[in-house]
Amino acid sequence: MLVEEIKKIADENPLACFQCGNCTGSCPLEFAMDYGPRKIIHMIQIGLDEEVLKSNTIWLCSSCYTCTYRCPRKVSFTRIAYALKNIALKKNIVPRNVKVFYETFLRHVLEYGRLNEGIFVNELVLKAGKSFREVIRDVNLGIRLWRKGKISMKISKIKRVEDIKKLYELVEGKEV
Ligand code: SF4
Ligand code: SF4
Repeated sequence: MLVEEIKKIADENPLACFQCGNCTGSCPLEFAMDYGPRKIIHMIQIGLDEEVLKSNTIWLCSSCYTCTYRCPRKVSFTRIAYALKNIALKKNIVPRNVKVFYETFLRHVLEYGRLNEGIFVNELVLKAGKSFREVIRDVNLGIRLWRKGKISMKISKIKRVEDIKKLYELVEGKEV
């Protein structure tokens, strides 16, 4: 049962939610989600575990914490989403583009200590298994952004990148 796993990983109780909808009404990314936060919690409550883990909601949550601060029942959907990500990873229910995004993001942070947006996005576009038409569309968009100075194609690296690696080693394998 997801309820028990979420309690264990995130110390959050989805059963405390009384479905007021404040979280969904406050979420800046709800428009792009399969189901809003309120609906996901309801699905957890009634045991639709597989549908929850397969939804794009958990991956689109940007951890802005707005829903958490506005919840009258002190339920943190943000932390629930973290727990769901952990569970989905363990069960290997992760969409390919999400996997590629996280792996590439982590590699860049460990190698450079920061994100070089231009290089990062280039790599993502090439690895994400997009169609030729989508790649061309993304490349054109990238060129437009680069021309306007919105993204850079230069690589910069922080001075003590080994400190980032040490920090990562400290949290590696920990949940939430
Ligand atoms: S704001 Fe809190 S109580 Fe209201 S629906 Fe969202 S999680 Fe449930
Ligand atoms: S933390 Fe996630 S679910 Fe909550 S409001 Fe922000 S993006 Fe939406």
